[in-house]
Formats: sequence, structure tokens, C-alpha cells
Amino acid sequence: MDGLLAALSQQGFRTIGPTLRDGAIVYDDIETSADFPIGWTDEQEGGHYRLERRDDGALFGYVVGPHAIKRFLHPPRQPLWQAEKTEDGYRFEAPAPPERPFAFVGFRPCDIRALAIQDRVFQGGVHMDIHYLARRKDALVVAVNCAQAAATCFCTSMGSGPKAEEGFDLALTELDPADDHRFLIEIGSERGKRILDRLTRQEAKPADIDAAHALSAKTAASMERQIPAGEVRDLLMRNLEHPRWQDVAERCLSCGNCTMVCPTCFCTEVDEDTQFTDEAVGRTRQWASCFSLDFSYIHGGSVRHSASSRYRQWITHKLATWHDQFDESGCVGCGRCITWCPVGIDITEEVRAIQDSETR
Ligand code: SF4
Ligand code: SF4
Repeated sequence: MDGLLAALSQQGFRTIGPTLRDGAIVYDDIETSADFPIGWTDEQEGGHYRLERRDDGALFGYVVGPHAIKRFLHPPRQPLWQAEKTEDGYRFEAPAPPERPFAFVGFRPCDIRALAIQDRVFQGGVHMDIHYLARRKDALVVAVNCAQAAATCFCTSMGSGPKAEEGFDLALTELDPADDHRFLIEIGSERGKRILDRLTRQEAKPADIDAAHALSAKTAASMERQIPAGEVRDLLMRNLEHPRWQDVAERCLSCGNCTMVCPTCFCTEVDEDTQFTDEAVGRTRQWASCFSLDFSYIHGGSVRHSASSRYRQWITHKLATWHDQFDESGCVGCGRCITWCPVGIDITEEVRAIQDSETR
């Protein structure tokens, strides 16, 4: 692992990966394998996240925390431009592009799927986002297949895990962390192969490949939550007036945590920053949440003034109208919105409640 990180750094990448901070596993700059949360695991449930010690030296013995790739490619605050007053008028400056391309190391299959979804949003249409393009350009992805699932994961029903099938340059499977600790590495691109060629390695044994398949199968089989992915669009769209929206509104705090942690949510608002002396002015884009009243404010007030309409907007966009807009679901089944919802509202449970009401 240190050889891989050093090779990426020598090739000019800024290496980002999981690390321990503030009682959670977050994504940040990493330099050596010691920066990973070695020997830690996470326990997750609706509204619940705790770190626990493992009894081995696994580097990737946990699942996903509150961060996703989006905070690097579509950051929470993105300066759009700055202007300074000069004798000839205002001089505009665009923000500087990142100095080094990102290498995302140790990201999960659901994260990789979310990256593809955000690629579609920001660079897949007529109007491309130049800030996203600048950050996404030349980014390299080293995925880690999941050897365990959190209780909140449901990637199998969204077709996004627990094994990465595409969208990576290299994919790792961590084998036997308690004993003969090693990684099985799958090559996903020519760039990935060139990085791998710089490392000391052995050819994979058939037993290692079988062990990796068995780990993925065990992880998939352990997942209890699910969403009926194929049917959910029509289910939600024919139940826009369902009483369940009022039921969830009585629990929902409209805090927007679910939208902030979701790896695919992409909405933003733009603020103007002016100095009192009018010497400089700038615009900054920041993440916005459809759970705020301001989000749907037009002349005369908010369109979605009730908590029930805001929750319905979020879940129907994520699971239904995203299909109409982008030909796919906006959910990858990472479970973050379940874990980080302070009152434990569970997207899978809300869908099931509506589904069950139709079959009763
Ligand atoms: S809606 Fe929830 S489970 Fe789906 S991708 Fe977003 S945070 Fe993950
Ligand atoms: S569903 Fe949960 S996380 Fe989302 S706005 Fe409501 S209370 Fe906050």
C-alpha cells in the first residue's frame, strides 16, 4: 500500500483516502498507509454511527462515513469568480484550477457509482460545469471492494456494489487482514496498469481470486435493507398524495443532513460576497438542500412550504424523476442518509411503507 501511495505521489497525484477524524472515518489527504483507519470498524444504524476497534490490522475494515467524492469534485463552497476594482473598472479573475490531479484511494463501489452519476450531471449534457471538469480531469480511482456491509447499506438492490464492476483504474480486495494480509488487485484501465507496473507484486493465485469472490458474495448476502429498484419509480409517482408523506413529516426535522451526505445530491445556490468599500466583489456557489424553505422560494413565497412536500420532493427526485432526467436512479444504496438522519428516517422503510399499503 505504501508503494502504491508513493507511486501515485511520484506521478504527481494528490492522494485522497479514508482517515480518522472527529470520531468518524472521513476522506482527506493521505500520504502513507498509517493515515488509514487501521484496525477500526464502524457500526451504523438509523441515526447512529460509532467507531469500534477491530481485532486485526485491516486497512479497510469499515464501510462509508459522512464524506463522498463529491466534496472534492463538487466542493461545499466553490468560488465562481472574484473581481477587484481598478482604475479602468473591475478586473475579473476565475478561481485557479487544482494544482494536482486527484487520486481517490480506498473508495467504495457505491462511491464509484455515485461518481459516474455526478459525471452525468456535471459533464454529460450540453451545459457542462467548468469547475467540476477542472477537478475531474485526470482524476484516478483506486476502489476497494467491500468485505463487510453496514446495517444501513443496500447497494445490491441499486446495482452498485459490494464489488466495483467499472469506473475504476485499480480495484483492491483486502484479504486475510488477521493472518497473511495481502491485496488482490484488479486492473480497470491502462493508467491503472501503468501505476501497477511500478509496484513489486506477485501474480494472483486462483485461490486469492476465489477468496475475493467469496468475500463479495458474503457481503452481498449480509445486506438486509433493500429497495425494489425496478418498480420504485412508478410506485412513488402514483402515490404523490399518500398519507405516508404526512407521517414522515411529523418525524423529519428538515435539517437537510440527508442531502449533504448523499453522494449524488448536486443542488447549489450562489451567494454574492461584496465588500463594504466596493473594492472587491465575488460569487461563491455552495451546496443547497431541497429541505430548506428558501430552496423553492419564488416571488410570493416557497412552493414547497410543508415538510411533507419537501421530503416527497427529495425521495421522488432521487428514486423516480431522476430516471426521467438522467435515465437512471439517483440513489446508489450507500445508506448515508439513513445513518446521518438525526431521527433515523430510512429511505428504504418509507418506500416499503408505501409499497405495503398497496398490497394490503
Ligand atoms: S439517497 Fe441515501 S442511500 Fe441513496 S445515495 Fe443518497 S445517501 Fe446514499
Ligand atoms: S429526513 Fe432526516 S436528515 Fe433528512 S431533513 Fe429530515 S430529519 Fe434531516
